[in-house]
Amino acid sequence: MPEPLRSYVAGEWRAGTATLEDVNPARPSEVVAEVQAADAALAEEAITAARAAFPAWRDTPAPARGEILRRAADLLEARAEDVGRDLAREEGKTLAEAIGETRRAVAILRYYAGQTLEPDGETYPSASRSTFLYARREPVGVVLAITPWNFPIAIPAWKLAPALAYGNCVVWKPAELVPLTAVHFTRAFADAGLPAGVLGVVLGRSGDVGATLLAGPVEAVTFTGSNEVGRRLQLEAIARGAKVQLELGGKNPAVVLADADLDLAAEQVARGAFLSAGQKCTATSRVIVERAVLEPLAERLVEHARGWRLGDPLDPRTVVGPLASPAQLERVAGYLDGARRDGGTALAGGGPAAIDGGYYMQPTVLAGLGPESAVVREEVFGPVAALLPADSYADAVDAANDTPFGLSAAVFTRDLGRALRFAKDVRAGVVKVNQESAGLELHVPFGGTKASSSGSREQGKAAREFFTEWKTVYVD
Ligand code: NAP
Repeated sequence: MPEPLRSYVAGEWRAGTATLEDVNPARPSEVVAEVQAADAALAEEAITAARAAFPAWRDTPAPARGEILRRAADLLEARAEDVGRDLAREEGKTLAEAIGETRRAVAILRYYAGQTLEPDGETYPSASRSTFLYARREPVGVVLAITPWNFPIAIPAWKLAPALAYGNCVVWKPAELVPLTAVHFTRAFADAGLPAGVLGVVLGRSGDVGATLLAGPVEAVTFTGSNEVGRRLQLEAIARGAKVQLELGGKNPAVVLADADLDLAAEQVARGAFLSAGQKCTATSRVIVERAVLEPLAERLVEHARGWRLGDPLDPRTVVGPLASPAQLERVAGYLDGARRDGGTALAGGGPAAIDGGYYMQPTVLAGLGPESAVVREEVFGPVAALLPADSYADAVDAANDTPFGLSAAVFTRDLGRALRFAKDVRAGVVKVNQESAGLELHVPFGGTKASSSGSREQGKAAREFFTEWKTVYVD
């Protein structure tokens, strides 16, 4: 067993007070790593170190900050296969997905390295002849980043890279389930020469360090995770005067209209619903189908669900790995039990799969459920798609919007006018036409409407809004 994983505080790898085990969800008897979990005192130190490092980092020329990000990207790229393998071992997504996600983090680092060469302000005409008037964007200060386990390197990358590029210091609390990926990502920054204290990484349980981190003197909190936790943290952070960005859950619809290419629609819906075992905030979970094509679409979707190979994420033949934890398995199984009680039928899958004692759930297609069933209303976060019939386009749009969430939505049709109409009618932050609801590009704004998000958008140039603030300067 390699050395236990440690937090990274003030430029040093620091031991913790408790030892946790990082377990492979495909084979829970396999301990991937041991973690020395931080306590509240170490979490506090991370914030103190970030505050101390902020003035010098803010004053470092932006292109020099970008150079460090570029070096971190190069190091991570060279290590992508090893990092991806460890990510797959601790989180459970397939090796191809895990290496792909690591390479996405590399690309995000390079994108924000490039952003450090972009204009950082604007000049304005002044009402006075003798005044030179300009406004520029400055870093907000120390940012607390709290991230989930489902994209353990891409989500941290799309928070940390812009935060650091724009001159903020960051204290990062990764999810408890994925400490090894967090350490790999942190090493890339440390080895790239990021000055001590600019990035602090606190490994451990939210129960031990969460309250301290949130009570600390930070200017901003960026959180991705569940609605339940996010809303609670939002109230605490706002009460302390911090700005807050939340990316929360989804209940993403895919609408299949009667004129759709059904082979394409079924394949894309299956990808959106089952890849990464459905553990994506943008995963497809409601498949709303015009009645005329309900049966042929269902047949095709069932064929995908039954045909996709479930198994060890490191086996190249595997398409769907396990869920990330026993809690996840229990949660998804609970929704499937509820679906049965509500009169639903599993056309494919319908329960766990016994493989090596891992937390596997079969790709599942449900039918016969009404809009009030919990599996149709709430975020399941597993490989489960519920088929819902629609009588018309208008009926389909109403069904798509009949949710408290508004993250992502897909429509399948050959009618361009209908597609564009749907893009207007649906209340979601991301709309896909003839593409799965999941899958994002890194240089465009990302976020949701309604209960899915709060605060300004992430990714692309939109990230600047959260991680900087305007300073307006009048020069006479
Ligand atoms: P979660 O339970 O809300 O946890 C998210 C993060 O918050 C973890 O790092 C967790 O740490 C931490 N946390 C929990 N309680 C805390 C507290 N009291 N104080 C400080 N930190 C605390 O969510 P998850 O299960 O990891 O992730 C799944 C959820 O994320 C789903 O709802 C999914 O939709 C959402 N998600 C949204 C997006 C998006 O962009 N909209 C993207 C991906 C995922 P511990 O692990 O130590 O508890």
